[in-house]
Amino acid sequence: MSRGGIIERYGDLLELGPLDPVISLEEGDTPLIQSHRLVEHCRLKIRLFFKFDGANPTSSFKDRGMTAAVSKAVSDGARAVVCASTGNTAASASAYAARAGVKSLVLLPGGNVALGKLAQSLMYGATVVAVDGNFDQALEAVKQLPDRFPLTIVNSINPNRIKGQMSAAFEVVDELNGSPDFHALPVGNAGNITATWRGYRKYQQVGKLRRLPIMLGFQAAGAAPIVDGHPIESPETIATAIRIGNPASWQGAVEAASDSGGHIEKVTDEEILEAYFLLAKTEGIFAEPASAASLAGVLKKARTGYFPFETRVVCTLTGNGLKDPDRAMTVETKMIETSGDLDSICKVIEEAL
Ligand SMILES: *Cc1c(COP(=O)(O)O)cnc(C)c1O
Repeated sequence: MSRGGIIERYGDLLELGPLDPVISLEEGDTPLIQSHRLVEHCRLKIRLFFKFDGANPTSSFKDRGMTAAVSKAVSDGARAVVCASTGNTAASASAYAARAGVKSLVLLPGGNVALGKLAQSLMYGATVVAVDGNFDQALEAVKQLPDRFPLTIVNSINPNRIKGQMSAAFEVVDELNGSPDFHALPVGNAGNITATWRGYRKYQQVGKLRRLPIMLGFQAAGAAPIVDGHPIESPETIATAIRIGNPASWQGAVEAASDSGGHIEKVTDEEILEAYFLLAKTEGIFAEPASAASLAGVLKKARTGYFPFETRVVCTLTGNGLKDPDRAMTVETKMIETSGDLDSICKVIEEAL
């Protein structure tokens, strides 16, 4: 029997209203992995969990919102969807559009999209348009298009995206039998922290949760408009999925942090990369660089003694590391060439063990 996607599992809680058809790739129900080696390596006295949303059908959390947005669009008669994207929204929109049999159009910041994400959109049959500008400029263009063409925007300014993304919080609570003490996320366009916080509050409203978590959001230092208090014209970071200078859900992120007693802070690219490599090497979890911003932030705050002893901390890992193979290949570990005869192979093994 199919386990179903998030719409099948959470139904009315997502507040989507009647849908016909439901467009699903059985997204959600992703692993919540407890850290053993990384906490030991970093001497953290917390119980740390990774919500690995890279295990979704298109390998990022975007699928949670996309099943909702595309189902709603198609139920309302849409024939085509459009989005601006740093890569993952495009991959997800294209996949769900293919599944629904409608057209997809994606606008990407030229030259700043990870290879795997671009390959996905092309494979799923989207019309892929490179824009000579950044994500924020691509989104501004997208907003003009529905006036001229019969297109539904599936960026997170589409409220159904946020509704679907609430499901990550539901899953964490279901699995932990309650709320974590802290929930950390990377912040780009800020839809996910907004949605996750809303999900926790929704679960509290319907009596499935008593105490709410403290929300922590982390922006990349070169793309930290919320922390810096003003839009960033030319955001820069190696974490391309959060390379955003003027987040659409800015207010939602600020509210999530302030209403929960949490914070939005920034982490440097060096800290992001340290967390990225550490996660793969010590836990066997390969997440993309932007995903590692949540862990980088938790490590940074842990060093200041922020977390009480043994508290439960969840880090959302937003996307799969395979999406950005170019970044991964900068890792220190290199392939060792041999001539192929047994002696030369054994020599390598001797040195490795
Ligand atoms: C979209 C995305 C983010 C940022 O999420 P927002 O909702 O825009 O804040 C972070 N990491 C990855 C991998 C993403 O795809």
